[in-house]
Amino acid sequence: MTDEVQRAIVVTGGSRGIGRAICKALAQPGCHVFFNYFTPGDRKEEEAEAAETERLITEAGARATGIWANIADKDQVSAFFDQVLEACGRIDVLVNNAGITRDNLLVRMKEDEWDDVLNVNLKGPFHCIQKVARVMMKQRYGRIINIASIVGVTGNPGQANYVASKAGVIGLTKTAAKEYASRGVTVNAVAPGFIETDMTAKLPEKVKTGMLALIPLGRAGKPEDVAAAVKFLASDDAAYLTGQVIHVSGGMYM
Ligand code: NAP
Repeated sequence: MTDEVQRAIVVTGGSRGIGRAICKALAQPGCHVFFNYFTPGDRKEEEAEAAETERLITEAGARATGIWANIADKDQVSAFFDQVLEACGRIDVLVNNAGITRDNLLVRMKEDEWDDVLNVNLKGPFHCIQKVARVMMKQRYGRIINIASIVGVTGNPGQANYVASKAGVIGLTKTAAKEYASRGVTVNAVAPGFIETDMTAKLPEKVKTGMLALIPLGRAGKPEDVAAAVKFLASDDAAYLTGQVIHVSGGMYM
């Protein structure tokens, strides 16, 4: 390992929302937090968001590197992780957080709406896990945490693509947990409910009010609520947990 970095952490989709809160929660002196971000569109705006995440990580005493890379693209994922390995020589924590929605009723859903969501939300974590698994198994240590969703368990009208991707993430988590347990690598999922981010801000008011009424704890979640569960799963206190799904939903799913 090069210089004084003791823990290399990778968070996908760290420029905003839940990913940014996770980067901040995991940032500690001695860590190098890498994150990526990618949405085709206004790259300048995304870079400004990424710079803010880097600032928050650095403020917490860790090193920060944000990289524009698409997790749905195998070559870009490979190049991203190669940069991490070149800088740190190891990868201790992978948080598969990046995700998108393209909502539509099933009968109206276009093939590209299905493919876009599955490619980012399910194929992305597959690429990332494949890339880090060998490294973590060799280290005989690793923590993989996948961000799923409660709808991956409950289903949700208008989100067949998203729900299928998140149900897939839960299956991927359990299988990877079984494949890597003997090598000291744990794999768990965090399934958020209704969390205040850009992803939910675009929902119609009526839908948001309806969701709030379903939350026993009486409020929408904050990105920090999800980040706290991820921080626990990445810690030594969670050493005996693998293949689990922690629902962070204010009781919306129980
Ligand atoms: P968000 O605010 O929309 O942020 C999404 C992040 O993912 C951004 O950093 C975005 O980068 C990045 N991203 C999108 N596509 C990418 C790609 N192809 N490659 C790399 N990065 C990409 O979303 P969020 O609400 O924080 O959601 C984070 C995770 O939590 C997702 O997996 C989501 O499904 C899950 N989740 C969220 C909720 C909720 O209520 N918000 C509930 C359940 C589960 P740019 O900044 O470049 O766009």
